[in-house]
Amino acid sequence: MNILIIGSGGREHALAWKLKQSEYCERIFVAPGNAGTAQIATNVDISITNFEELAKFADDFSIMMVVVGQEAALVNGIHDYFQGLDYLKHILVIGPCKAGAQLEGSKDFSKRFMQQYNIPTARYQTFTADSFEQGLTYLQSHSYPVVLKADGLAAGKGVVIPNSYEEAAAELQAMLQGQKFGAASSKVVIEEFLQGIEVSVFILTDGKEYVLLPEAKDYKRIGEGDTGLNTGGMGAISPVPFADEVFMEKVRTRIIQPTLQGLQSENIPYSGFIFIGLINVNGEPYVIEYNVRLGDPETEAILPRIQSDLFELFKALHDHDLQNFRLEVDPRTAATIMLVAEGYPGNYRKGDEISGLDQPIEALLFQAGTTLTEDKKILTNGGRVLAVTGLGNTIPEALQQARQTAEKITWFGRNYRRDIGFDLQ
Ligand code: ATP
Repeated sequence: MNILIIGSGGREHALAWKLKQSEYCERIFVAPGNAGTAQIATNVDISITNFEELAKFADDFSIMMVVVGQEAALVNGIHDYFQGLDYLKHILVIGPCKAGAQLEGSKDFSKRFMQQYNIPTARYQTFTADSFEQGLTYLQSHSYPVVLKADGLAAGKGVVIPNSYEEAAAELQAMLQGQKFGAASSKVVIEEFLQGIEVSVFILTDGKEYVLLPEAKDYKRIGEGDTGLNTGGMGAISPVPFADEVFMEKVRTRIIQPTLQGLQSENIPYSGFIFIGLINVNGEPYVIEYNVRLGDPETEAILPRIQSDLFELFKALHDHDLQNFRLEVDPRTAATIMLVAEGYPGNYRKGDEISGLDQPIEALLFQAGTTLTEDKKILTNGGRVLAVTGLGNTIPEALQQARQTAEKITWFGRNYRRDIGFDLQ
């Protein structure tokens, strides 16, 4: 069977790597992919939102399954587009239709959804340019810090956490009146700040049944000790020690089940992943956000722990048989470290040659912002360049393996966090 993966990050490299292990997969294509996916699959030079070209490609290359890694394709309706074409109706798209993708595409939608279905989340209100003055009044009576979120997709930059009214008011004005994030900030969610430790929970669901995948914790800040600017993610650990059976039972009954019931009540069909960003507040899980695809770099930590055939898992989704699917999970810990370009997450360097990729390495390596030149050199081509994942019986063991590999792979200005997992040990 031929499969098309949509995206170009470490997540998509990890998906291609995992699917390639399945005896059912014949050819794997990645659009647009990176230098890493080019080594194990075939890259296709089509943008993730050029649905017309992607559909044509899927038809020409007898694609039977499309696995969507990047959210923009889902929020813009790739699933609906494929479903709307008679000759592509048979294709299984792993990723929801536009209606389901609103869980990620609109913070206002997801907050209303959580409120309506009694899913624990921070208290909030939404404001628009027309209700800017009411927003200021709301901020005046709010406790600090407070959380301001642009409603739409803003490449992970749409959330700010001001510590004072003055800062928050200026931010609200920049978002609503100054169009700081364009249309994405035409609505702003103002919500209560929750104090706790975060964990990412993933399910694969057909909208009714689901399989719980291994959880992970990611590290968003650029600096050690969780300091400095937010990034797309600097590393991840799976499993997460505090996500024990008691905590996960709360997640299942208070969050996952009501989420699926909510989707059914709203008549929103769903097929794909739901990534639930949670915060553990004194042992109680609260939802920070939903995403409608896997996380990056969490995927690079969780897929190496999944021993089951990923294709068979997707097939169980297709057959509405997830309830009977027994996911085999490696009990060891996976630690992922992201190697990034100098300057990231600000303006960063590109085009530096990466060395060390041809020597024996202990850890798994997933490429992200890389490109292959005509003379077969691999150059940096993004802020987050590649992820290394170590496996071990403990977090320190897994980290040691990842760090040994991280040290071997270098380029000018290569940076990474040496303290991933510091808060879990
Ligand atoms: P992502 O890059 O994960 O997609 P996003 O832009 O969609 O992020 P959120 O995940 O909602 O935004 O928020 C980003 C980060 O801000 C969270 O990972 C969390 O650290 C912090 N955050 C968000 N909401 C809250 C809250 N209510 N209380 C405390 N921290 C929060």
